[in-house]
Amino acid sequence: MIITMGKYEYLILGPQGSGKGTQAQALANLLRIPHISTGDIFRQLAGQQSEFGQELDKILKTGQLVPDDITNKLVANRLAESDTNSGFVLDGFPRNMKQAEFLAKIKPDVLAIYLELSDEEAVKRISGRRVCPNCQAVYHLQYNPPRVDEVCNIDGAHLLQRTDDTKEAVLVRLANFHQQTEPLLDFYHQRGKLKRIDGAPPIDVVTANLRAILGL
Ligand code: AMP
Ligand code: ZN
Repeated sequence: MIITMGKYEYLILGPQGSGKGTQAQALANLLRIPHISTGDIFRQLAGQQSEFGQELDKILKTGQLVPDDITNKLVANRLAESDTNSGFVLDGFPRNMKQAEFLAKIKPDVLAIYLELSDEEAVKRISGRRVCPNCQAVYHLQYNPPRVDEVCNIDGAHLLQRTDDTKEAVLVRLANFHQQTEPLLDFYHQRGKLKRIDGAPPIDVVTANLRAILGL
């Protein structure tokens, strides 16, 4: 008898500040599968001097969403790479119904994990967030500080605040989340593909709870 291992296909949903990126990275490390963050990919592209880069930069700074056709194509290409053969953790995608329907066509078995967090707590967390411009590691001034103030533990780069972590952009992104992304909870629930988890406890506790509900 041949026992085939299931693939580890996950996506993480949650408002900005819910710890999506951190938990996606933890899960990906644990399972040795790629962590695919559309936000990270777009930020990298937005740093390029091309016309496309500048256009993206404008969209990101205001907290708006990148058009679906661009986003879907980018994700489809990424998921076609061979390092996703044993699975992947999507972070920041899908963000609306069009994207969810697109993903369901190419990857019908993905399990959605919803990290719940109140808007109030989300805004509080985002103001303390710092990222490494070099390796994209994410820190928080109170909840997850680097060993040396404002310096990345991994490569020593000076940490920055994301340009879209301003209060104005955060409010736009939270409104987007409620209007466009929240409906996906029903979409995945109806397919029996939704796990909910409280994003409020400390990082390690959330990771442990996540492992427990996923049986990992
Ligand atoms: P994030 O790091 O997930 O908060 O994403 C940062 C920004 O990248 C968002 O505010 C959007 O402008 C863009 N972005 C990331 N993922 C998507 C997506 N799935 N669809 C459209 N835009 C996205
Ligand atoms: Zn770094």
